[in-house]
Amino acid sequence: MIFRSPRFLRLVVVLLAFARPVAADFYETPEFADVVARTEEYVAKYGVDQVLLVLDIDNTLLASDTALGSDQWFDWQEYLLAQEPDSPHLVADDFPGLLNAQGLLFTLGSMHPPQADLPELIGEIQATGVKTLVLTSRGDEFRTATGRELRANGYDLAKSALETKESLATPFLPYDLDDLAAAGLSTTEAEAMKLKPAKAATYRDGVFMTAGQHKGAMLIAMLHRAKQPYKAIVYVDDHNHHVVRVLDALMRRGVDVSGFHYLREENLVDAFRYSDKSDVSRQWRRLDQTLKRIFEVEEPAAAPAE
Ligand SMILES: [Mg+2]
Repeated sequence: MIFRSPRFLRLVVVLLAFARPVAADFYETPEFADVVARTEEYVAKYGVDQVLLVLDIDNTLLASDTALGSDQWFDWQEYLLAQEPDSPHLVADDFPGLLNAQGLLFTLGSMHPPQADLPELIGEIQATGVKTLVLTSRGDEFRTATGRELRANGYDLAKSALETKESLATPFLPYDLDDLAAAGLSTTEAEAMKLKPAKAATYRDGVFMTAGQHKGAMLIAMLHRAKQPYKAIVYVDDHNHHVVRVLDALMRRGVDVSGFHYLREENLVDAFRYSDKSDVSRQWRRLDQTLKRIFEVEEPAAAPAE
């Protein structure tokens, strides 16, 4: 039976490869200069107007100055909510409560680039004319604090922002499960990605705030709304699973894609993961108690006895 022949299967793979001469490359690096080099290779190969650089925020463009409120702190809290809901370390009883705490810490705290020359390296790419898209799991409720910290650290990602056919500045649903094609997605993909009903997202000043949704799906939905298609995309994220999801979504579309698992903060993330967390717990309790003392409505004093 020819259809069961491994040689035949190999041939099919080769023919498909010739039909769609694209590649998906995965890299792990703590050096953003590798991203710059790959982007420049794509520019040389496809032309500057055909290349898009897509960037995550937390632990990629920005890292928290404090462990409390950092991306690793948030991941740990999310883990506790799911696995140890009675943990005394928890700052909230549920996910919306955790988001409120994170919002407070984003507002009060400050951030820095994981490597000091990162804004400069991104500036170099922008100077070549390459368009950029910041793709973050942060929701729109954190836009003010996010924009403030990006600006404070010398990033201007609005000037190179991917252009969309229509404004997406006000909250919109990136896809509709009943009309996936309108977002450039297929039913098979939606099943593979385990997509749930979409949550509202916004895209403004080059920053796409997606409220924790599947980054592969978010990128496809955004590219479908872009003014032009791109032949090559470079994607950078500190979370391996986001890189894999984006590579998987793009390579089936004939886009030449390079995914970078950016490791600059990895040692700090690991150190936090294996620490006893007593410092961050104590800090949170002090902050929480202070705020409650100042802002919580006090019980009205009992009326004096007649
Ligand atoms: Mg991140």
